[in-house]
Amino acid sequence: MIDQKFRLSFEFFPAKTPEGREKLLEVRRQLSEFEPDFFSVTYGAGGSTRDNTKELVTHLHSQGVAVAPHLSFGGDTQESMRQLIDEYRDAGIERIVALRGDMPSGVGGSFEMVYANELVAFIREHYGDHFQLEVAAYPEIHPQAKSYTEDIRYLKGKFDAGANSGITQYFYNPDAYFYFLDQCHKAGIEQPIYPGIMPIINFRNLTRFSDACGAEIPRWLRKRLESFGEDTESLRAFGEELVTELCDVLLENGAPGLHFYTMNQYQPTANIVRNLGLTVSAEDAAS
Ligand code: FAD
Repeated sequence: MIDQKFRLSFEFFPAKTPEGREKLLEVRRQLSEFEPDFFSVTYGAGGSTRDNTKELVTHLHSQGVAVAPHLSFGGDTQESMRQLIDEYRDAGIERIVALRGDMPSGVGGSFEMVYANELVAFIREHYGDHFQLEVAAYPEIHPQAKSYTEDIRYLKGKFDAGANSGITQYFYNPDAYFYFLDQCHKAGIEQPIYPGIMPIINFRNLTRFSDACGAEIPRWLRKRLESFGEDTESLRAFGEELVTELCDVLLENGAPGLHFYTMNQYQPTANIVRNLGLTVSAEDAAS
Protein backbone atom coordinates (compact mmCIF):
# COMPACT_ATOMS: atom_id res chain seq x y z
CA MET A 1 0.00 0.00 0.00
CA ILE A 2 1.33 3.47 -0.82
CA ASP A 3 2.46 5.52 2.14
CA GLN A 4 0.51 8.81 2.22
CA LYS A 5 3.71 10.86 2.08
CA PHE A 6 5.37 8.78 -0.62
CA ARG A 7 5.54 10.54 -4.02
CA LEU A 8 5.50 8.61 -7.28
CA SER A 9 6.00 10.18 -10.71
CA PHE A 10 6.58 8.94 -14.25
CA GLU A 11 8.48 10.75 -16.99
CA PHE A 12 7.78 10.61 -20.74
CA PHE A 13 9.38 12.23 -23.75
CA PRO A 14 7.06 13.52 -26.51
CA ALA A 15 6.60 11.04 -29.35
CA LYS A 16 7.85 11.90 -32.82
CA THR A 17 5.17 10.03 -34.81
CA PRO A 18 1.37 9.55 -34.57
CA GLU A 19 1.94 5.83 -33.82
CA GLY A 20 4.40 6.72 -31.04
CA ARG A 21 1.86 9.15 -29.62
CA GLU A 22 -0.89 6.52 -29.57
CA LYS A 23 1.44 4.07 -27.85
CA LEU A 24 2.44 6.71 -25.33
CA LEU A 25 -1.18 7.51 -24.48
CA GLU A 26 -1.81 3.81 -23.91
CA VAL A 27 1.28 3.54 -21.66
CA ARG A 28 -0.01 6.54 -19.72
CA ARG A 29 -3.39 4.85 -19.24
CA GLN A 30 -1.71 1.66 -18.05
CA LEU A 31 0.68 3.43 -15.66
CA SER A 32 -2.23 5.35 -14.14
CA GLU A 33 -3.14 2.10 -12.35
CA PHE A 34 -0.38 3.01 -9.87
CA GLU A 35 -2.01 6.39 -9.17
CA PRO A 36 1.14 8.48 -9.62
CA ASP A 37 1.21 11.99 -8.19
CA PHE A 38 2.05 13.27 -11.65
CA PHE A 39 3.50 12.49 -15.06
CA SER A 40 6.15 14.74 -16.53
CA VAL A 41 7.01 15.44 -20.17
CA THR A 42 10.52 16.38 -21.27
CA TYR A 43 11.45 19.40 -23.34
CA GLY A 44 13.90 18.73 -26.17
CA ALA A 45 17.32 20.36 -26.05
CA GLY A 46 17.07 24.01 -27.04
CA GLY A 47 13.25 23.88 -27.15
CA SER A 48 13.29 21.43 -30.07
CA THR A 49 10.09 19.72 -28.82
CA ARG A 50 8.37 22.93 -27.70
CA ASP A 51 5.13 22.28 -29.63
CA ASN A 52 5.07 18.50 -29.06
CA THR A 53 5.69 18.90 -25.33
CA LYS A 54 2.97 21.54 -25.05
CA GLU A 55 0.51 19.49 -27.09
CA LEU A 56 1.04 16.34 -25.02
CA VAL A 57 0.95 18.20 -21.70
CA THR A 58 -2.28 20.04 -22.50
CA HIS A 59 -3.87 16.88 -23.92
CA LEU A 60 -3.06 14.87 -20.78
CA HIS A 61 -4.23 17.72 -18.57
CA SER A 62 -7.54 17.88 -20.48
CA GLN A 63 -8.04 14.19 -19.62
CA GLY A 64 -7.73 15.00 -15.93
CA VAL A 65 -4.14 13.73 -15.62
CA ALA A 66 -1.76 15.60 -13.29
CA VAL A 67 1.11 16.55 -15.59
CA ALA A 68 4.22 18.70 -15.40
CA PRO A 69 6.01 20.06 -18.47
CA HIS A 70 9.80 20.24 -18.37
CA LEU A 71 10.95 23.66 -19.46
CA SER A 72 14.28 25.20 -20.39
CA PHE A 73 14.99 28.54 -21.98
CA GLY A 74 17.36 27.39 -24.74
CA GLY A 75 17.64 30.20 -27.27
CA ASP A 76 14.24 31.67 -26.35
CA THR A 77 13.60 35.26 -25.39
CA GLN A 78 11.91 36.07 -22.10
CA GLU A 79 8.86 37.16 -24.07
CA SER A 80 8.41 33.79 -25.79
CA MET A 81 9.02 32.01 -22.48
CA ARG A 82 6.27 34.08 -20.92
CA GLN A 83 3.92 33.22 -23.75
CA LEU A 84 4.49 29.49 -23.20
CA ILE A 85 4.24 29.68 -19.40
CA ASP A 86 1.08 31.84 -19.71
CA GLU A 87 -0.44 29.08 -21.84
CA TYR A 88 0.42 26.47 -19.22
CA ARG A 89 -1.00 28.60 -16.42
CA ASP A 90 -4.17 29.39 -18.38
CA ALA A 91 -4.63 25.69 -19.17
CA GLY A 92 -4.51 24.94 -15.42
CA ILE A 93 -1.04 23.35 -15.24
CA GLU A 94 0.33 23.68 -11.72
CA ARG A 95 3.78 22.10 -11.82
CA ILE A 96 6.88 22.75 -13.96
CA VAL A 97 10.27 21.02 -14.04
CA ALA A 98 12.56 24.05 -14.52
CA LEU A 99 15.92 23.40 -16.20
CA ARG A 100 18.79 25.08 -17.93
CA GLY A 101 18.68 22.28 -20.48
CA ASP A 102 21.31 21.45 -23.04
CA MET A 103 21.67 23.15 -26.40
CA PRO A 104 21.72 21.10 -29.60
CA SER A 105 25.18 21.39 -31.17
CA GLY A 106 25.63 24.44 -33.37
CA VAL A 107 22.95 26.48 -31.58
CA GLY A 108 23.82 29.41 -29.34
CA GLY A 109 22.29 29.76 -25.87
CA SER A 110 19.84 32.37 -24.63
CA PHE A 111 21.36 35.80 -24.20
CA GLU A 112 18.98 36.48 -21.38
CA MET A 113 19.36 33.53 -19.00
CA VAL A 114 22.26 31.22 -18.38
CA TYR A 115 21.47 28.94 -15.42
CA ALA A 116 18.36 27.17 -14.14
CA ASN A 117 18.18 29.31 -10.97
CA GLU A 118 17.40 32.24 -13.27
CA LEU A 119 14.45 30.40 -14.82
CA VAL A 120 13.14 29.55 -11.33
CA ALA A 121 13.46 33.22 -10.29
CA PHE A 122 11.79 34.32 -13.55
CA ILE A 123 8.78 32.05 -12.97
CA ARG A 124 8.46 33.15 -9.34
CA GLU A 125 8.70 36.81 -10.34
CA HIS A 126 5.97 36.58 -12.97
CA TYR A 127 3.71 33.82 -11.62
CA GLY A 128 4.14 34.00 -7.85
CA ASP A 129 3.35 30.69 -6.19
CA HIS A 130 1.08 29.38 -8.93
CA PHE A 131 3.51 26.62 -9.94
CA GLN A 132 5.13 23.87 -7.90
CA LEU A 133 8.70 24.03 -9.26
CA GLU A 134 10.94 20.99 -9.57
CA VAL A 135 14.65 21.32 -10.37
CA ALA A 136 17.34 18.85 -11.46
CA ALA A 137 19.87 17.50 -8.94
CA TYR A 138 22.96 15.38 -9.56
CA PRO A 139 24.11 12.90 -6.88
CA GLU A 140 27.11 12.04 -9.08
CA ILE A 141 27.54 15.73 -9.93
CA HIS A 142 26.71 17.51 -13.16
CA PRO A 143 29.32 16.80 -15.85
CA GLN A 144 30.13 20.51 -16.31
CA ALA A 145 30.31 21.32 -12.59
CA LYS A 146 33.55 22.91 -11.43
CA SER A 147 33.50 20.90 -8.21
CA TYR A 148 31.26 18.83 -5.94
CA THR A 149 30.70 21.69 -3.49
CA GLU A 150 30.09 24.27 -6.25
CA ASP A 151 27.41 22.04 -7.79
CA ILE A 152 25.62 21.76 -4.44
CA ARG A 153 25.98 25.50 -3.92
CA TYR A 154 24.28 26.11 -7.27
CA LEU A 155 21.57 23.59 -6.42
CA LYS A 156 20.95 25.58 -3.23
CA GLY A 157 20.72 28.67 -5.46
CA LYS A 158 17.81 27.02 -7.30
CA PHE A 159 16.00 26.39 -4.01
CA ASP A 160 16.77 29.90 -2.78
CA ALA A 161 15.24 31.21 -6.02
CA GLY A 162 12.00 29.40 -5.14
CA ALA A 163 12.15 25.74 -6.24
CA ASN A 164 10.01 23.38 -4.14
CA SER A 165 11.76 20.08 -4.73
CA GLY A 166 14.46 18.32 -6.70
CA ILE A 167 14.51 15.25 -8.95
CA THR A 168 17.84 13.55 -9.47
CA GLN A 169 19.67 12.28 -12.48
CA TYR A 170 19.55 8.49 -12.39
CA PHE A 171 22.24 6.49 -10.64
CA TYR A 172 22.87 2.87 -9.69
CA ASN A 173 24.88 3.49 -6.53
CA PRO A 174 22.57 4.36 -3.61
CA ASP A 175 25.53 5.58 -1.53
CA ALA A 176 26.01 8.42 -4.02
CA TYR A 177 22.42 9.55 -3.38
CA PHE A 178 22.57 9.34 0.42
CA TYR A 179 25.96 11.05 0.61
CA PHE A 180 24.60 13.76 -1.69
CA LEU A 181 21.53 14.24 0.55
CA ASP A 182 23.82 14.60 3.58
CA GLN A 183 25.89 17.21 1.79
CA CYS A 184 22.75 19.04 0.67
CA HIS A 185 21.45 19.13 4.25
CA LYS A 186 24.81 20.44 5.43
CA ALA A 187 24.58 23.15 2.77
CA GLY A 188 21.19 24.17 4.20
CA ILE A 189 18.90 22.52 1.64
CA GLU A 190 15.72 21.35 3.36
CA GLN A 191 13.50 20.64 0.38
CA PRO A 192 12.91 17.00 -0.67
CA ILE A 193 15.10 15.54 -3.41
CA TYR A 194 13.46 12.61 -5.20
CA PRO A 195 15.65 9.94 -6.75
CA GLY A 196 15.33 9.50 -10.52
CA ILE A 197 15.10 5.81 -11.46
CA MET A 198 16.15 4.45 -14.84
CA PRO A 199 14.93 0.91 -15.59
CA ILE A 200 17.50 -1.15 -17.50
CA ILE A 201 16.02 -1.86 -20.91
CA ASN A 202 18.81 -1.68 -23.48
CA PHE A 203 22.56 -1.85 -22.80
CA ARG A 204 23.78 0.26 -25.73
CA ASN A 205 21.27 3.08 -25.18
CA LEU A 206 21.93 3.10 -21.46
CA THR A 207 25.70 3.42 -21.84
CA ARG A 208 25.32 6.11 -24.50
CA PHE A 209 22.98 8.16 -22.26
CA SER A 210 25.08 7.62 -19.19
CA ASP A 211 28.30 8.70 -20.87
CA ALA A 212 26.58 11.85 -22.12
CA CYS A 213 24.87 12.88 -18.88
CA GLY A 214 27.55 11.86 -16.39
CA ALA A 215 25.50 9.09 -14.70
CA GLU A 216 27.86 6.36 -13.67
CA ILE A 217 27.31 2.70 -14.46
CA PRO A 218 29.66 0.95 -12.01
CA ARG A 219 32.29 -1.17 -13.80
CA TRP A 220 30.95 -4.47 -12.44
CA LEU A 221 27.46 -3.59 -13.63
CA ARG A 222 28.63 -2.48 -17.08
CA LYS A 223 30.52 -5.79 -17.44
CA ARG A 224 27.53 -7.81 -16.25
CA LEU A 225 25.14 -6.05 -18.63
CA GLU A 226 27.60 -6.42 -21.49
CA SER A 227 27.74 -10.17 -20.89
CA PHE A 228 24.08 -10.57 -21.89
CA GLY A 229 24.97 -9.65 -25.48
CA GLU A 230 21.84 -9.80 -27.64
CA ASP A 231 19.87 -11.69 -24.97
CA THR A 232 17.56 -8.76 -24.19
CA GLU A 233 15.14 -10.86 -22.15
CA SER A 234 17.82 -11.94 -19.65
CA LEU A 235 19.24 -8.41 -19.52
CA ARG A 236 15.82 -7.00 -18.66
CA ALA A 237 15.14 -9.66 -16.05
CA PHE A 238 18.50 -8.94 -14.40
CA GLY A 239 17.92 -5.18 -14.69
CA GLU A 240 14.46 -5.48 -13.14
CA GLU A 241 15.83 -7.31 -10.13
CA LEU A 242 18.74 -4.90 -9.72
CA VAL A 243 16.64 -1.73 -10.00
CA THR A 244 13.97 -3.16 -7.68
CA GLU A 245 16.70 -3.78 -5.11
CA LEU A 246 18.04 -0.25 -5.62
CA CYS A 247 14.56 1.23 -5.04
CA ASP A 248 14.10 -0.97 -1.97
CA VAL A 249 17.32 0.34 -0.45
CA LEU A 250 16.36 3.92 -1.30
CA LEU A 251 12.91 3.65 0.26
CA GLU A 252 14.09 1.74 3.33
CA ASN A 253 16.62 4.49 3.99
CA GLY A 254 14.17 7.34 3.71
CA ALA A 255 13.95 8.43 0.07
CA PRO A 256 10.74 10.51 -0.08
CA GLY A 257 9.47 8.90 -3.29
CA LEU A 258 10.54 7.76 -6.76
CA HIS A 259 10.58 9.41 -10.19
CA PHE A 260 10.76 6.89 -13.05
CA TYR A 261 12.36 7.62 -16.42
CA THR A 262 9.90 5.34 -18.18
CA MET A 263 11.43 5.70 -21.68
CA ASN A 264 7.77 5.68 -22.78
CA GLN A 265 7.48 1.96 -21.92
CA TYR A 266 5.01 0.37 -19.54
CA GLN A 267 6.42 -3.01 -18.60
CA PRO A 268 9.90 -2.21 -17.21
CA THR A 269 8.59 0.49 -14.84
CA ALA A 270 5.38 -1.39 -13.96
CA ASN A 271 7.30 -4.55 -13.04
CA ILE A 272 9.55 -2.63 -10.65
CA VAL A 273 6.67 -0.73 -9.06
CA ARG A 274 4.78 -4.02 -8.58
CA ASN A 275 7.84 -5.77 -7.15
CA LEU A 276 8.09 -2.97 -4.60
CA GLY A 277 4.47 -3.51 -3.59
CA LEU A 278 3.61 0.06 -4.48
CA THR A 279 0.09 -0.80 -5.55
CA VAL A 280 -2.96 0.95 -4.32
CA SER A 281 -5.18 -1.37 -2.30
CA ALA A 282 -8.68 -2.00 -3.70
CA GLU A 283 -10.08 -0.43 -0.52
CA ASP A 284 -8.08 2.79 -1.02
CA ALA A 285 -8.95 2.93 -4.70
CA ALA A 286 -12.67 2.67 -3.86
CA SER A 287 -12.58 5.37 -1.19
P1 FAD B 1 21.85 24.22 -13.93
O1 FAD B 1 21.27 24.00 -12.60
O2 FAD B 1 21.84 25.60 -14.48
O3 FAD B 1 23.37 23.69 -13.87
C1 FAD B 1 24.14 23.54 -15.06
C2 FAD B 1 25.64 23.59 -14.74
O4 FAD B 1 26.02 24.92 -14.41
C3 FAD B 1 26.08 22.74 -13.54
O5 FAD B 1 27.37 22.26 -13.84
C4 FAD B 1 26.14 23.72 -12.37
O6 FAD B 1 27.13 23.35 -11.41
C5 FAD B 1 26.52 25.02 -13.07
N1 FAD B 1 25.85 26.19 -12.49
C6 FAD B 1 24.57 26.27 -12.06
N2 FAD B 1 24.28 27.53 -11.64
C7 FAD B 1 25.41 28.24 -11.82
C8 FAD B 1 25.74 29.61 -11.59
N3 FAD B 1 24.83 30.48 -11.08
N4 FAD B 1 27.01 30.03 -11.90
C9 FAD B 1 27.93 29.16 -12.42
N5 FAD B 1 27.66 27.84 -12.66
C10 FAD B 1 26.42 27.41 -12.37
N6 FAD B 1 17.38 18.23 -20.45
C11 FAD B 1 16.59 18.63 -21.48
O7 FAD B 1 17.11 19.16 -22.48
N7 FAD B 1 15.22 18.46 -21.44
C12 FAD B 1 14.60 17.91 -20.37
O8 FAD B 1 13.38 17.79 -20.35
C13 FAD B 1 15.40 17.49 -19.26
N8 FAD B 1 14.84 16.97 -18.15
C14 FAD B 1 15.63 16.63 -17.07
C15 FAD B 1 15.02 16.15 -15.91
C16 FAD B 1 15.79 15.82 -14.80
C17 FAD B 1 15.11 15.31 -13.56
C18 FAD B 1 17.21 15.92 -14.86
C19 FAD B 1 18.05 15.50 -13.70
C20 FAD B 1 17.82 16.41 -16.01
C21 FAD B 1 17.05 16.78 -17.12
N9 FAD B 1 17.62 17.30 -18.29
C22 FAD B 1 16.82 17.68 -19.36
C23 FAD B 1 19.08 17.46 -18.41
C24 FAD B 1 19.54 18.88 -18.00
O9 FAD B 1 18.91 19.84 -18.81
C25 FAD B 1 21.05 18.94 -18.19
O10 FAD B 1 21.69 18.14 -17.25
C26 FAD B 1 21.62 20.36 -18.22
O11 FAD B 1 22.99 20.26 -18.66
C27 FAD B 1 21.64 21.05 -16.87
O12 FAD B 1 20.40 21.51 -16.52
P2 FAD B 1 20.16 22.06 -15.02
O13 FAD B 1 18.80 22.58 -14.98
O14 FAD B 1 20.60 21.07 -14.03
O15 FAD B 1 21.22 23.31 -15.05
